[in-house]
Amino acid sequence: MRTKLVAGNWKQHGSLATNIDLLAAVREGAAGLKAEMAVCVPYPYLAQARSVLDGGRVAWGAQDVSEHLQGAYTGEVGAAMLVDFDVRYVIVGHSERRACYGDTDAVVAAKFDAARQAGLTPILCVGETLAEREAGITGKVVTRQLDAVIARCGAAALADAVVAYEPVWAIGTGKTATLLQAQEVHALIRARIVTDDRTVGEELRILYGGSVKPGNAAELFSQPDIDGGLIGGAALVAADFLAICAAC
Ligand code: PEP
Repeated sequence: MRTKLVAGNWKQHGSLATNIDLLAAVREGAAGLKAEMAVCVPYPYLAQARSVLDGGRVAWGAQDVSEHLQGAYTGEVGAAMLVDFDVRYVIVGHSERRACYGDTDAVVAAKFDAARQAGLTPILCVGETLAEREAGITGKVVTRQLDAVIARCGAAALADAVVAYEPVWAIGTGKTATLLQAQEVHALIRARIVTDDRTVGEELRILYGGSVKPGNAAELFSQPDIDGGLIGGAALVAADFLAICAAC
């Protein structure tokens, strides 16, 4: 039985002063909810997230990790450093990193590997651009992104991971995939993993991300292969994030 998970991705938003209210409200509101919940905050706020959320129902996570364990990599943050802050989840392969920072499939696979080796739970993002969807190659793109991780780590490695299907054209645009479009790709992702490892595929949590709001969360999360959400903009408003969590 897969437990639903809702993870917030704060992206490059927040400040020490404003985070306090958001974190405290999320902690308090989450107390009565059943879903698993997490917020992935910018690195400098991990200590703050831990101090506010520790002992509550909401885990904290990071939005990226270095593929290197340690060394002369200016600006990078290693998985062991995240473990120092009791981080549970780390997003890898977000489309913004793939598009703006050159994270190739191979780099994403290396980051996934580094996260797992440190005992973190990677949230592996996959998804197609609008041009790729219009060209009819959504399945091919998503499969290629998954295969890079499977080639490096094996399908069994996904037992300790989460996959997020995020159509790039739906991120921050207000456009959500239809239930059919989302379910279709989620089913394809699960089938790809089941081909290599039935149990891992059936147990894998696959989140949907892309303009999830309180108004569309319940119907998305009711699809058979959608196990929760990765939430961007709506994660910055406590009431919206909690309403989405409650929809699980
Ligand atoms: C995201 O960037 O992971 C995301 C899903 O953003 P939004 O919810 O704002 O579309």
